Amino acid sequence: MRRVVTDVELRRVDLGDGDWVDLKRRLTVADREYINNAVSEASKIGAREGDDGEVTVTGVNWASAFGATLRRSIVAWGGPGFCVHDHEDGSPHSDDGGSNGCGPLPLTSAHIAALDDGTANRLAAIINAGDPRPRKEEGAHP
Ligand SMILES: [Zn+2]
Repeated sequence: MRRVVTDVELRRVDLGDGDWVDLKRRLTVADREYINNAVSEASKIGAREGDDGEVTVTGVNWASAFGATLRRSIVAWGGPGFCVHDHEDGSPHSDDGGSNGCGPLPLTSAHIAALDDGTANRLAAIINAGDPRPRKEEGAHP
Protein backbone atom coordinates (compact mmCIF):
# COMPACT_ATOMS: atom_id res chain seq x y z
CA MET A 1 0.00 0.00 0.00
CA ARG A 2 1.32 3.38 -0.96
CA ARG A 3 1.61 5.36 2.26
CA VAL A 4 1.73 8.73 0.57
CA VAL A 5 -1.65 9.47 -0.96
CA THR A 6 -0.96 11.11 -4.32
CA ASP A 7 -4.33 10.35 -5.90
CA VAL A 8 -7.59 10.55 -4.01
CA GLU A 9 -9.13 7.10 -4.21
CA LEU A 10 -12.83 6.79 -3.62
CA ARG A 11 -15.05 4.05 -2.36
CA ARG A 12 -18.75 4.00 -3.07
CA VAL A 13 -21.04 3.20 -0.17
CA ASP A 14 -24.40 1.77 -1.21
CA LEU A 15 -27.00 3.04 1.25
CA GLY A 16 -29.85 1.11 -0.35
CA ASP A 17 -32.98 2.48 -2.10
CA GLY A 18 -30.74 3.68 -4.95
CA ASP A 19 -28.79 6.05 -2.70
CA TRP A 20 -24.99 6.12 -2.64
CA VAL A 21 -22.15 8.19 -1.22
CA ASP A 22 -18.58 8.38 -2.49
CA LEU A 23 -16.08 8.63 0.36
CA LYS A 24 -12.38 9.22 0.25
CA ARG A 25 -10.82 5.81 0.76
CA ARG A 26 -8.17 7.21 3.08
CA LEU A 27 -7.81 10.49 4.92
CA THR A 28 -4.47 12.29 4.92
CA VAL A 29 -2.58 14.61 7.26
CA ALA A 30 -4.20 17.56 5.48
CA ASP A 31 -7.63 16.11 6.20
CA ARG A 32 -6.69 15.50 9.83
CA GLU A 33 -5.47 19.10 10.14
CA TYR A 34 -8.78 20.35 8.77
CA ILE A 35 -10.67 18.23 11.30
CA ASN A 36 -8.43 19.29 14.18
CA ASN A 37 -8.81 22.94 13.20
CA ALA A 38 -12.57 22.54 13.25
CA VAL A 39 -12.34 21.20 16.80
CA SER A 40 -9.98 24.00 17.77
CA GLU A 41 -12.35 26.65 16.35
CA ALA A 42 -15.24 25.05 18.21
CA SER A 43 -13.27 25.12 21.44
CA LYS A 44 -12.67 28.86 20.97
CA ILE A 45 -16.42 29.30 20.76
CA GLY A 46 -16.59 27.47 24.06
CA ALA A 47 -13.88 29.66 25.58
CA ARG A 48 -14.53 32.30 28.20
CA GLU A 49 -12.41 35.35 28.91
CA GLY A 50 -12.18 36.21 32.58
CA ASP A 51 -11.90 39.72 34.10
CA ASP A 52 -8.14 39.29 34.21
CA GLY A 53 -8.12 38.64 30.46
CA GLU A 54 -7.25 35.00 30.90
CA VAL A 55 -9.02 32.73 28.44
CA THR A 56 -10.44 29.53 29.79
CA VAL A 57 -11.53 26.89 27.34
CA THR A 58 -14.85 25.65 28.63
CA GLY A 59 -15.14 22.58 26.48
CA VAL A 60 -14.50 20.99 23.15
CA ASN A 61 -17.43 20.49 20.86
CA TRP A 62 -16.81 16.96 19.62
CA ALA A 63 -19.74 17.30 17.26
CA SER A 64 -17.44 19.53 15.22
CA ALA A 65 -14.99 16.68 14.74
CA PHE A 66 -17.90 14.50 13.64
CA GLY A 67 -19.16 17.05 11.10
CA ALA A 68 -15.67 17.96 9.92
CA THR A 69 -14.86 14.29 9.32
CA LEU A 70 -17.98 13.91 7.20
CA ARG A 71 -17.34 17.18 5.33
CA ARG A 72 -13.79 16.10 4.60
CA SER A 73 -14.67 12.54 3.55
CA ILE A 74 -17.80 12.83 1.43
CA VAL A 75 -16.88 13.57 -2.16
CA ALA A 76 -20.17 12.92 -3.96
CA TRP A 77 -23.64 11.55 -3.39
CA GLY A 78 -26.64 10.58 -5.44
CA GLY A 79 -29.91 8.74 -5.63
CA PRO A 80 -33.48 9.73 -4.79
CA GLY A 81 -32.61 10.36 -1.13
CA PHE A 82 -30.11 13.07 -2.13
CA CYS A 83 -32.14 14.54 -5.00
CA VAL A 84 -33.13 18.20 -5.30
CA HIS A 85 -36.66 16.84 -5.62
CA ASP A 86 -38.51 15.23 -2.74
CA HIS A 87 -39.48 11.74 -3.89
CA GLU A 88 -41.32 10.81 -0.71
CA ASP A 89 -44.54 10.93 -2.76
CA GLY A 90 -43.25 8.05 -4.90
CA SER A 91 -42.55 10.17 -7.97
CA PRO A 92 -39.88 8.65 -10.23
CA HIS A 93 -36.25 9.69 -9.81
CA SER A 94 -33.84 9.78 -12.71
CA ASP A 95 -30.12 9.42 -12.08
CA ASP A 96 -29.12 10.71 -15.49
CA GLY A 97 -30.46 14.17 -14.68
CA GLY A 98 -32.88 13.86 -17.59
CA SER A 99 -36.06 15.69 -18.37
CA ASN A 100 -37.55 15.55 -14.86
CA GLY A 101 -34.87 17.89 -13.51
CA CYS A 102 -33.45 15.40 -11.01
CA GLY A 103 -29.98 15.97 -9.66
CA PRO A 104 -28.11 15.67 -6.39
CA LEU A 105 -28.35 18.39 -3.79
CA PRO A 106 -25.11 20.39 -3.79
CA LEU A 107 -22.50 18.99 -1.43
CA THR A 108 -22.46 21.94 0.97
CA SER A 109 -21.66 22.12 4.67
CA ALA A 110 -25.31 22.99 5.31
CA HIS A 111 -26.55 19.89 3.49
CA ILE A 112 -24.03 17.68 5.26
CA ALA A 113 -25.14 19.22 8.56
CA ALA A 114 -28.71 18.34 7.59
CA LEU A 115 -27.95 14.64 6.98
CA ASP A 116 -30.23 12.50 9.07
CA ASP A 117 -28.51 11.16 12.17
CA GLY A 118 -28.77 7.50 11.16
CA THR A 119 -27.12 8.06 7.79
CA ALA A 120 -24.44 10.32 9.29
CA ASN A 121 -23.59 7.77 12.00
CA ARG A 122 -23.46 4.99 9.44
CA LEU A 123 -21.04 6.95 7.25
CA ALA A 124 -18.90 8.02 10.21
CA ALA A 125 -18.58 4.38 11.32
CA ILE A 126 -17.42 3.38 7.83
CA ILE A 127 -14.92 6.26 7.72
CA ASN A 128 -13.58 5.48 11.20
CA ALA A 129 -13.18 1.78 10.34
CA GLY A 130 -10.60 2.84 7.76
CA ASP A 131 -9.55 1.29 4.47
CA PRO A 132 -11.10 -2.19 4.19
CA ARG A 133 -8.64 -3.49 1.59
CA PRO A 134 -6.53 -6.39 2.82
CA ARG A 135 -2.97 -5.42 3.41
CA LYS A 136 0.21 -7.40 3.58
CA GLU A 137 1.40 -7.91 7.14
CA GLU A 138 4.41 -5.88 8.13
CA GLY A 139 7.56 -7.95 7.60
CA ALA A 140 5.68 -10.94 6.17
CA HIS A 141 7.34 -12.94 3.43
CA PRO A 142 5.43 -14.24 0.44
ZN1 LIG B 1 -34.83 12.84 -8.30
